[in-house]
Amino acid sequence: MEIIFLGSGGAWGLPEHQCPCATCRHLRSIGQRRMRTSLWVEAGAPILIDPGPDLRAQIMAHDLPRPAAVLITHEHHDHYLGLDELLCYRRNRPPADWRPIPTYAHPQAWPAIEQRFAYLIPSLLDKRPALPGQPLEGAPFGPELVCTPVKTDHGPVPKGSLGYILEERRRGREYRLGYTSDLVRTVEPLALAYLDCLVCQCHFLNEPQVNRANHLSLQNALPLLKAWRPGRAFFVHLSCQDTIPGDEPANAMLKKYAPAAPLRDPQGQAYPIPRDQASWQATVDRVLADHGLELPALVALDGLRVKLC
Ligand SMILES: [Zn+2]
Ligand SMILES: [Zn+2]
Repeated sequence: MEIIFLGSGGAWGLPEHQCPCATCRHLRSIGQRRMRTSLWVEAGAPILIDPGPDLRAQIMAHDLPRPAAVLITHEHHDHYLGLDELLCYRRNRPPADWRPIPTYAHPQAWPAIEQRFAYLIPSLLDKRPALPGQPLEGAPFGPELVCTPVKTDHGPVPKGSLGYILEERRRGREYRLGYTSDLVRTVEPLALAYLDCLVCQCHFLNEPQVNRANHLSLQNALPLLKAWRPGRAFFVHLSCQDTIPGDEPANAMLKKYAPAAPLRDPQGQAYPIPRDQASWQATVDRVLADHGLELPALVALDGLRVKLC
């Protein structure tokens, strides 16, 4: 199994256009960008998770073939708004050589997706249901590649939010990759336990006083990771929404979230808010070590390609 992080940023990417905060100013100055989070999985068949609004640039950057299936985690724009870009795989083939792409989402996510993209169904997208706890049916899924949706809690609005577990069983070996997407928790507390690899949301460093966005902070990911015990982890969906001490008036922006009780190191010091890839990775390394998590963990950056097994 091999994965490519097509994007690793939050709903509006990083830096956000015209955002005056210290994180976005710094990212502009060093030219570091994150597109909207999306994952490509090569597991015997190529699987695309979350065709977001940056999909055209992402599939062109890696010259990706037609996916054998598309998994949509929920009905927020940054997770499905690129579906129309998949038309390139239909338009540029002879008609006899075409089959619609199996596309899975929770039944409560489909109405919003269909409202926008009904014209793609069924000619481009073969609409299929993804039900929590029930392995997905239909090719490319079968005995050698099992995909099981996991119900996640991403707040009251996106009712159809899901994570996915992809299990590759070949040559007597099994490998289980989990993908959380946007969440504050899983509905079944241990639904993502004991995976070989977990791709985990990390939207904030510090848990906010009010988490209206219903996203996972690194702070709140710590007890989940301790319970789930993945073999390794990758963090995605990074944002600039932590407040940064001293970064006034940016901290007054609607999107900035003040911490409830910031994550602290063993000396009682709050960790500095990371602004770029290197400082995010250094922070993750320190936080996990300081909190007793012996876990290989990488902060994903766009284009990162990893052979998992
Ligand atoms: Zn999102
Ligand atoms: Zn979302």
